[in-house]
Amino acid sequence: MTALELIDVANQVLFIGLFAAVLWRALKQPSRASWDMVLLFGSIAGVVFLARAAEVLQLGEQPWLIGVILLLLAIAPYAMLRLVGDFSRTPRWVLLVGGPVLAIIGVLGFVAFGAAPRLYEVVAIAWFLGVGGYAALAFGRAALATRGITQRRMTAVAFGTLLFIAAIVIAFADVLVETVDLPAAPQVISLFAGLSFFLGFAPPAWIRRAWREPDLRNFLERSIHLPTITDERRAVVEIQNAAAGAFGASGASIGLAVAGRPVLRYVNRAGDWVEYADDAFIPGRAYRQQQRVVALDAMELDPEHAAVYEQNLATTIIAAPITTDERRLGVLSVYADRAPIFVEDDLWLIELMAAHTALLLEARSHATTTNSLRAREESARLKEEFLSAAAHDLRTPLTVVLGQAELLERRVARDPAAPPDAVGISRMVREARRLRDLVTELLDAQRLEMGSEVMDLEPIDLRTVLESVRRRYHDQGIDLKVTTPADAAIGSIDEPRFEQVIDNLVENAIKYTSSGMLPEVELAVDAGEARILVTDHGVGVPEEERDRIFDRFYRATNVQGTTESGIGLGLYICRRIVEAHAGRIWVEPAPGGGSTFVVVIPAAEAAASNPAPADWKPSSNDPSPDAFEVAADA
Ligand code: ADP
Repeated sequence: MTALELIDVANQVLFIGLFAAVLWRALKQPSRASWDMVLLFGSIAGVVFLARAAEVLQLGEQPWLIGVILLLLAIAPYAMLRLVGDFSRTPRWVLLVGGPVLAIIGVLGFVAFGAAPRLYEVVAIAWFLGVGGYAALAFGRAALATRGITQRRMTAVAFGTLLFIAAIVIAFADVLVETVDLPAAPQVISLFAGLSFFLGFAPPAWIRRAWREPDLRNFLERSIHLPTITDERRAVVEIQNAAAGAFGASGASIGLAVAGRPVLRYVNRAGDWVEYADDAFIPGRAYRQQQRVVALDAMELDPEHAAVYEQNLATTIIAAPITTDERRLGVLSVYADRAPIFVEDDLWLIELMAAHTALLLEARSHATTTNSLRAREESARLKEEFLSAAAHDLRTPLTVVLGQAELLERRVARDPAAPPDAVGISRMVREARRLRDLVTELLDAQRLEMGSEVMDLEPIDLRTVLESVRRRYHDQGIDLKVTTPADAAIGSIDEPRFEQVIDNLVENAIKYTSSGMLPEVELAVDAGEARILVTDHGVGVPEEERDRIFDRFYRATNVQGTTESGIGLGLYICRRIVEAHAGRIWVEPAPGGGSTFVVVIPAAEAAASNPAPADWKPSSNDPSPDAFEVAADA
């Protein structure tokens, strides 16, 4: 056997094998596209078979035999044209004109080939080049427009078409033009065409697996973080986008089952939830029947919703139920404006994605349950902390007030004319005030925690705040050293709240200084920031606890068990208030022992004689990113 004969045999085996493969598939999954493939490879296999039979039976060059072979050969480009129409929008007239032209060429093969072979050859070359070339181009364009495995298969089909047309045209030209002499070229080229068709129309399983892998990985990569997205709508949209991306489809949609009601929830274009009966639309059918549904023409299968399909470019829909072993979670569907040419790949992919989506949704629902359990635990813990702190700290002053009141009661009962006990009364007043302050602190903290404390920010000279604090302490006989700049320092503040912060820091500074040395307060403005320092010479804060003292109910280890009462809420309240002013608060060790509490907020300097300029805007209108965070979690 010569090499050329070997190539011939390979060609015959390849094309007859291809015909068998596409026929088998068309019988299993009939669709227009699969029957058009049968037409294409049936015609080529017919040519191969007849040529071989003629050789074996030594029929010679019978005109009818040549006519049939030429007709079959001419069918191939027409079948390609039809295939193009199956997956893209070929103008209708192209298909309408194609049929009659094919018929004319067919007849020409019978009547004219013997008499005027040249005429037939010219017509045939034109037919193959024109129609086949058009198809090759359309396949190439479709390959560019699709993605994933469809793109790879379509590229192979485009190459196969191009090579096949080249082989036939060269074969005709070989006969037609004397100077062209390429004896083996058509066979060799047609062998490559056959191989390309094979990869495109009937790729073996291992090639398919390798081609699908990147799409799948892409889907997994895009969806792996979804269980952590708290907004369910966003999670759904992301899975949809990942699925549509992997298919190269116009879109994808997920319908989620709703416990106890026969509906599916979808996210509409505006990003809102919409509900439909759980058997509505084609995805609803897949959900109800719990099996995948392929609608090659959605409008025909479900005319009731034709307008919706048309609006969403959903000519073809493939839907698969999202189900775990025991639960029906919903349905995943992908849609496209063209029929999928390789349905089997798409089916495989969507089932896999539906299974993966089921896992993601399960993981999400577990994560949500865990989060809400954690939140409930946290709130229970808070309540407990609150109650035990409140009970413990309120009891002490309450005991004093009650004891003192009972004493007074007994004294009055014993001797109604006795002079009032001034010392006892003032002790009662002091403890009752402490009680009031504690209750205020607890309520304040709770209000800030719930985010219901809305700040009322206004441009105010911070020096006036410090002056007011100084005066109040002065009235109690405590002379604080307060240092302020000569120029006004305008901060955008909620005055009573901000004063509360400074007050609290000064109060702590006095409380945690046993020597009786008074704290110093200093205000400075620099680079758009006001800095307020409250420095004491007291017990200081252990280094590793400097951050934690701003937490709720936290008291440093060096003050626990001392006589200084407190519940660890003051600094927490200060931090929340300062943050609501787009500012920061922290503590530093003071030189020579003690602590310096630093509060920084945005502020502007203004000459003392000038009031704030009229167009001056509170700097919190332009809050720092931190302020956004506070606003977000407040
Ligand atoms: P409280 O004073 O009621 O305990 P705070 O929230 O005001 O609560 O303060 C929290 C903790 O920070 C205090 O318990 C104390 O350990 C520490 N602290 C606050 N201010 C000072 C200070 N000026 N010097 C030393 N430690 C302080």
